[in-house]
Amino acid sequence: MQQEVIDQLRQQEVAPQKLFINGQWVSGTGSCHKVVSPIDGSVITSLPRASRADMQAAVGAARDAFNDGRWANLAPAARKQVLHKLADLIQEHALELAVLGVRDNGTEINMAIKAEPGSAASTFRYYAEAVDKVYGEIAPTDPAILGLVHKQPVGVVGAITPWNMPLMIGAWKIAPALAAGNSVVVKPAEEASLTTLRLAELAQQAGLPDGVLNVVTGKGSEVGEELAMSMDVDVLVFTGSGDTGRRLLEYSARSNMKRVYLELGGKSANIVFADAPDLDQAALGAAMAIFRNSGQICVSGSRLLVEQSIHDEFVSKVTEHAQALRIGDPLLLTSQVGAINNLNQLNGNLEFVSKAQAQGATLVTGGERILQATGGYYMQPTVMTGVQPDHHLAQAEVFGPVLAVMSFKDEAEAIAIANNSDYGLAGGIWTSNLGRAHRLIKAVKTGGLFVNTYGGADGTIPLGGVKQSGNGVDKTLHALDKYVDLKTAWIKL
Ligand code: NAD
Repeated sequence: MQQEVIDQLRQQEVAPQKLFINGQWVSGTGSCHKVVSPIDGSVITSLPRASRADMQAAVGAARDAFNDGRWANLAPAARKQVLHKLADLIQEHALELAVLGVRDNGTEINMAIKAEPGSAASTFRYYAEAVDKVYGEIAPTDPAILGLVHKQPVGVVGAITPWNMPLMIGAWKIAPALAAGNSVVVKPAEEASLTTLRLAELAQQAGLPDGVLNVVTGKGSEVGEELAMSMDVDVLVFTGSGDTGRRLLEYSARSNMKRVYLELGGKSANIVFADAPDLDQAALGAAMAIFRNSGQICVSGSRLLVEQSIHDEFVSKVTEHAQALRIGDPLLLTSQVGAINNLNQLNGNLEFVSKAQAQGATLVTGGERILQATGGYYMQPTVMTGVQPDHHLAQAEVFGPVLAVMSFKDEAEAIAIANNSDYGLAGGIWTSNLGRAHRLIKAVKTGGLFVNTYGGADGTIPLGGVKQSGNGVDKTLHALDKYVDLKTAWIKL
């Protein structure tokens, strides 16, 4: 039944897209380009490649909306109502949003339904509820003084988002920014902009005042840069690659020193000890940690560290899972793994495999493009052994279905290999030794770790990286800190 609805939705025509600036749908003054589906290479619609002037107009609209207080000065209960209404609308249109997103970026539909509209709706609800529950502070200072700490919106927030999970990640930024009373300008990735534009439409329907949320599509190196360089953007929040993150810090330094929060890539170590409670479960977990969404997940367990004594047996189990996965049309509920988002990314993934082989790694399974006749972009789940900790494949993020397997002899070596990385986003530990699990939770330098599972999350746990995986967190009340300034008052009584 659900498959029938999905099949109908996938046929729906998508009108040529426009920019959403100041509550209006406008063509902009830039050019247009075709949106190609990674499922089969078909053209879904056209998308504006906005000009720098369009971005300036969006930032101007956001600034005006903030300055006149049409949103910032609403009673918190009123803002809460709009955000709840938006969550309702996302839920009402959940399947439509999920299918649109999959046509645009290739994520398997089973995952997209939960992770995209599902998570976006709960994020808007979470921050809707937070609006009237987060207080300022009265400082415990000299009794002759009243020390106040207010939390004030920062003003205009610029948000730049990636092509994986654009609705979920967009909501992680837009929802807390709006809840705190800010105006927002979003620049989604060119390879996956459609659901963010649809979200803006739903936000308007929910009653969000004009100019408070603006969406400008286009090239990162043009409109993304314009947003990041703007003197009128107070805070910039970003999810994407480290290279772009580095540029954003530079743009901030060269413009108004806006605060920049970065959620970047990872090369997470999934560490399997011989005393894991269930090696079969661990093998399935290790396979899904990297092959789900074709490895296009920031927290993917892309380095598999296996204790020497079980290395060969464990690699065969993971390989069996890799070979058994059903890869294909991501809009079929029976597909377990969907498409690679774009051709460049697919070619880059294949290059990683040949480079790793040239450095001496062994290709155990996969390594090839498949289903080319569909016109889409698909790749076999790939397992490579004999990878050394300093190899390119052990150090660089592929963001594709390529697993780098390494072995270790003891706990100390596992920790050393895990920490031999510029990244520090996530990781996994499989052991039945409670003490060891806690030692590793402390010793492995990452933003988060999974123990005897891999990849679970919800809105109650913050997500963020350390080292070159970023700063600050998305989700939970902690994320609200990014979107407020602390304003103090020292009052003599
Ligand atoms: P990307 O850095 O290429 O692009 C991300 C966004 O930045 C896009 O909107 C792009 O247009 C924009 N951009 C590119 N160049 C820019 C510039 N010079 N100035 C301003 N904006 C610019 O990343 P991607 O390929 O879209 O996404 C994949 C990356 O995102 C991976 O590295 C992945 O690990 C990371 N990611 C991290 C998290 C996290 O929470 N830490 C979550 C998802 C994805």
